Order: sequence, then C-alpha cells, then structure tokens
Amino acid sequence: MFRQFYDEASSTLTYLLADANSRQAVLIDPVTENIDDYLGIINQHGLALLYSLETHVHADHITGGGKLKNITQAKTAVSTACGADTADIQLNDGDVITFGEESIRVIATPGHTAGSVSFLWRDRLFTGDSLLINGCGRTDFQSGDAGKLYDAITKRLFTLPGETLVYPGHDYNGRRVSSIAQEKGINPRLANKTRDEFIELMANLNLPKPKMIDIAVPANRKCGVPDVQHG
Ligand code: FE
Repeated sequence: MFRQFYDEASSTLTYLLADANSRQAVLIDPVTENIDDYLGIINQHGLALLYSLETHVHADHITGGGKLKNITQAKTAVSTACGADTADIQLNDGDVITFGEESIRVIATPGHTAGSVSFLWRDRLFTGDSLLINGCGRTDFQSGDAGKLYDAITKRLFTLPGETLVYPGHDYNGRRVSSIAQEKGINPRLANKTRDEFIELMANLNLPKPKMIDIAVPANRKCGVPDVQHG
C-alpha cells in the first residue's frame, strides 16, 4: 500500500508505505499539522505504524514524528549526521528498515544538509530535498555542500535504474513523481552539468532565508516535540 500526502503550507510531500499482509506501516517525512490525516488512513486500514522516517532535519516545517510516537509508539528515525539526539534510531548509509515483508534501504545523500538521506523501497526512491523534480535542495545552510550534493546525486542516485520512480520531499509546482531517467536527462541543475558548473550555479541562487528555519530546525532536532521525553 502506498499513499502520498501534500502539505499546502510548506509544499511538503509525505509518504505512507504499508505491507498488505502484516499491515505494518512506515511514514516518510510526516508534518505535525497533518497527523490526523495520517492517523485517519492508518486507522481506516487497520495499520500498525512502526516508524516515522526523516529524510533530514527540515527547515520549513515541523515533523510529526514525535507526536506520532506518543500516539502510536512508532519509532522516530533520523540520520546520525543530523544531530537529532532524541530520535529512537540513528540511521546510517546502507541500513535496512523492515516492515512486514517489505524493506527500505537508506542511501546517504549529503549536500542539502550534512545528514540528508534518501530511502529506496522497491522501485521507488524517496529523495527528501536532495533531488527534486527539475531541481534539488539548496546547499547554503545547515552544513549544506554543493560538491557533496553533486557527488551524492550523480554517484548514488543516478546510478539506480532509469525507471526508478523519484518521489521528492517537496514540489512547489504541483508535480508529484518523476524518474531517475527523467532527472538525469532534463533536470536543469544537473543534466550535462560538471561538478564545477553545479557548484557555481548553487553558489549564485540568492535564495531568501526560509521563514520557519529558526523554529523548525531546533524543534526537528527533537523530533518536533521539544518538551516530551523520548527513548
Ligand atoms: Fe530541507
């Protein structure tokens, strides 16, 4: 079972994956304001939420992972390199998360943030803000590094089969899915760009500071619930 959710306020895409037999489920990048929507689907289908996975510590919205844990016992999982010490699970490259018969592989894709990861499930890749449809995450804050992002995308993600579906962490233009072949072929930041060209391009985006960053980043280091004990 596979569901995609969209958060209007932050243009965040959240994903629910579930194993049909065991009914065990996983959420990727839940948004705190929308947990009732997730719980509605989870309850409607009799699912047991095992994990809330984060692709990174977000700057633009607060994660629902901590609140969901308090309601469902679902464990929170964030990359080791994110500095989110209260998460139940610290993820590393190559880790495998299982739910029922299904498994998700963690692929370290640093660059947007030092702790950014992508998740590969079957033929679907959840890229967070590392690789976006026709774009990529910015690299000018949160230990971002354009050279590392270029390496992660070109060496780790673009080496997956072309038909792998790309489900990003955001889209601001109403798009919902792409593929590795499409991004390799026409992503204007990456297609036919050298590493140096990419670094140059990323250094000159002149993007405004995200509105939520000073609130969201500290909160997300504590899974979105600073005042609740974890672990
Ligand atoms: Fe981000």
